[in-house]
Amino acid sequence: MALRQIRIMGDEKLEKACRPVEKMTPKLKQLVQDMLDTMYDAGGVGLAAPQVGILKRIVVIDVSEEGNEPLILVNPALLEQSGEQTGQEGCLSLPGQAGIVTRPNHVKIRAYDEDMKEFELEADELLARAICHELDHLEGIMYVRHVEGELFEVSEEEQQEETEEQQDRRKRKK
Ligand code: ZN
Repeated sequence: MALRQIRIMGDEKLEKACRPVEKMTPKLKQLVQDMLDTMYDAGGVGLAAPQVGILKRIVVIDVSEEGNEPLILVNPALLEQSGEQTGQEGCLSLPGQAGIVTRPNHVKIRAYDEDMKEFELEADELLARAICHELDHLEGIMYVRHVEGELFEVSEEEQQEETEEQQDRRKRKK
């Protein structure tokens, strides 16, 4: 397992548009695996390549409770969006904080998997929110741009507990 350092808001890599992946290489496959490891280790539900300093259009997401449904999106494109959901959102690049963001409640996307096989996916609710949040990262956009009202602090204890719970679940699984 290889963890990468998560960039924190203010880092210039988080403000740049990412380039498409033209060809999957062993190096990029390793990046995908490292991104998954890093996301699970940090207790997040999504991570985009620029968050680990790589300006490529790659995203990993896992919104499952067990943390065993990794979704890998290479060169994702939003095809359709509908509805609305308003709720709390946070980001591994802004630890300890959260804000209220309105997102589409339903999205349809096209992307490639880690073998560059094309697929389409429809998603609702939390998964739709995570997809929109991560796709924004690929354009250099942090969720704080969409926040309604003020950011608020989420206690580190609260976050830590959550992380430990998730780690426990993973350990039990193994
Ligand atoms: Zn984020």
